[in-house]
Amino acid sequence: MIYADNAATTKMSAAAIQTMIDTAQNDWGNPSSLYVHGQRAKEILEQAREDVARVIGAAPREILFTSGGSEADNQAILSAAALGRKTGKTHIISSAFEHHAVLHTLKKLEKEGFDITLLDVHEDGLIRPEELAAAIRDDTCLVSIMFANNEIGTVQPIRELGAICRAKGVLFHTDAVQAVGHVPVNVAADNIDLLSASAHKFHGPKGVGFLYARRGVVLQNLIEGGAQERGKRAGTENVPGIAAMATALTEAHSHMAQNAAHLTAMRSRLIEGIGQIPHSALNGDAVRRLPGNVNFCFEGIEGESLLLLLDDKGIQASSGSACTSGSLDPSHVLLAIGRVHDVAHGSLRLSIGEDITEAEVEEIIRSVREVVEYLRGFSPIWRDLMAGKKQFIL
Ligand SMILES: *Cc1c(COP(=O)(O)O)cnc(C)c1O
Repeated sequence: MIYADNAATTKMSAAAIQTMIDTAQNDWGNPSSLYVHGQRAKEILEQAREDVARVIGAAPREILFTSGGSEADNQAILSAAALGRKTGKTHIISSAFEHHAVLHTLKKLEKEGFDITLLDVHEDGLIRPEELAAAIRDDTCLVSIMFANNEIGTVQPIRELGAICRAKGVLFHTDAVQAVGHVPVNVAADNIDLLSASAHKFHGPKGVGFLYARRGVVLQNLIEGGAQERGKRAGTENVPGIAAMATALTEAHSHMAQNAAHLTAMRSRLIEGIGQIPHSALNGDAVRRLPGNVNFCFEGIEGESLLLLLDDKGIQASSGSACTSGSLDPSHVLLAIGRVHDVAHGSLRLSIGEDITEAEVEEIIRSVREVVEYLRGFSPIWRDLMAGKKQFIL
């Protein structure tokens, strides 16, 4: 079995599993309790906060633990919107290919009277900084642009985008769920005010993540109750999950350069090998993308059948985000970069992990070629294309 769906979730690392077990077994006290057992859990929690903060160049007090990336996205955006509302600023800028945790939160704000501008994503899967600069208005309270896209893997010029926001005095949030632990992220150098991350995308457990909020940015709480997380998120903390997240992130960060070098080499070979299939196209810039992401469109086939047949061959991949597979709508990300419906339907995302071998990469290439050829063999669209009744797009 070859697992090539790391953008959907990753396997927990052995060290993260061990931390989770140890914490659950030995340090199961409530961090809010004053006796020694509780205070030991509190120490673990604060050590995790320090570890996570160090990796992204933040101060520990700027890290708020959440249930994952979706919650962090919601809290970041709703907090900035609340601050904006107070000062009469109700314009928000984002992009058309954000994760639904961002897009759906913006939809909700739009219904409440906010004006939302979604920047165009160019064919290369990148946002143009000058277009962001031109879109910022006097009443803009927030810019939210993802660090790296979860479907096509493109990595935005975050530092430049952040600098533009900083210069204009607008809060800058980035959904960095796909980036943290995989590419260098530094909130200070990158001019980031708010950042979302999720443990299960960097070999930590599911159901835990964090929100970085620069000192001075006032957060709204989504969950009312106790005084945990400086009063910004009530509920007894998920200490084993948080400790395991810190272990996973520290580990991912310390091996980042070496992992990226290996993944980039494997990615290049996949792009080269799969790119030889006629009437196929890579989605997103070939270089400015996550080390482990490969995303192709193939003309004349359905992504769903492609995935099922690859699964039969022991290869687990995706046609887009886990949240949209199962629905027949083409990916909003592929439409955002200008792929037409027909072509967007025939997409394949391979998000490979650090332990992938050269032999596995060759097996993926061979299998994708076989399956695409097989499916085209009885595709009516392909027949029309070959007969010249329809024009090839790719
Ligand atoms: C996975 C993902 C999320 C959601 O994170 P969860 O922890 O699963 O809630 C948000 N944004 C991006 C870009 C993601 O890839």
